[in-house]
Amino acid sequence: MPFFKMNKQLIFAGLMIAFIINHGYSQTILNKQNIENALNDAFNKFKDLKEGKNADYIKELANVDPNIFGIALVTADGAVYTKGDITSMVSIQSISKVFTMAKVIEQEGSQFLQDKIGVNATGLPFNSIVAVEMHKGDKINPLVNPGAIATTSLIRGNDSIAKWKEIQKIQSDFAGRQLSINRPVYISEASDNLRNQAIAHLLLAYNRIYFDPVQATDLYTKQCALNVNVKDLAIMAATLANGGVNPVTKNKVVSQTTVMYTLPVMATAGLYDNSGIWLFNSGLPAKSGVGGGMLAICPGKFGIAVISPPLDESGNSLKAQKVIQYVVEKLKVNPYWIEPK
Ligand code: GLN
Repeated sequence: MPFFKMNKQLIFAGLMIAFIINHGYSQTILNKQNIENALNDAFNKFKDLKEGKNADYIKELANVDPNIFGIALVTADGAVYTKGDITSMVSIQSISKVFTMAKVIEQEGSQFLQDKIGVNATGLPFNSIVAVEMHKGDKINPLVNPGAIATTSLIRGNDSIAKWKEIQKIQSDFAGRQLSINRPVYISEASDNLRNQAIAHLLLAYNRIYFDPVQATDLYTKQCALNVNVKDLAIMAATLANGGVNPVTKNKVVSQTTVMYTLPVMATAGLYDNSGIWLFNSGLPAKSGVGGGMLAICPGKFGIAVISPPLDESGNSLKAQKVIQYVVEKLKVNPYWIEPK
């Protein structure tokens, strides 16, 4: 074999070894095939799981079909992958808290959010009154009800109508289409949300709500009633995964800085009092809602969402947690999975 040819082979082999050492063969490549396989496997593995129960403290949610099951993954460059039911809509519920918080960070800055609301996790259920009382309305968290109602009250606008326009717009911009209210869910919750009203009034007593408490609660209830399908949720997640630019519409929705401050709040409080366990098992910032939706962000890579209404005790979709965790493991995208050099 001529020397130069042998040399070429040696160089090629050397490069391959260097590639394997650097990238590790065990890292899954995020291509179409691997993503589709992961979604298909997750769907088949969990489709018959019957644990959990629809939320019923909002009467209308008890009537939602518990068998709705859809998965969507949208990459940071806008490729959309789906499996199962992608047409059924559920109310977004607590997932909306993320995007209203992002809007306040975008408009007023991260320090403002930290001062006016707080960003430490309460470690308590999402509708806890004790969490407010414990710190006299100080240090509430934007991803549980008290902090979320107060965050809603900070949205700019002279009156409730102007504020609602802003809220609907930011949620819709993240989704890349105009979202509208699920009326029966809104009416059902609005006629029965004395607890959230109590929270808003308690915040007022501590000077920690920044608009009329009844109207702020109503705005919050409306935002929770926005209807979404699983693809909407995945695009919302992918917009965060892509540094604030919606990868499907290509519109800049919020700045990279806003995303940088949004994701840690999701990581520490996105699944309420179950957030630690979730982060331990997935490593990803995520958010759930009692409508049965859940989304998670793999920064720089993709957003993933699942809809399945039956919930665990903390109010998080049981199937969604299992599916996302499975996909994260399968694609090896837990950010704390580190290939040694
Ligand atoms: N609208 C619901 C409530 O205030 C949202 C709760 C949730 O999704 N965890 O109770």
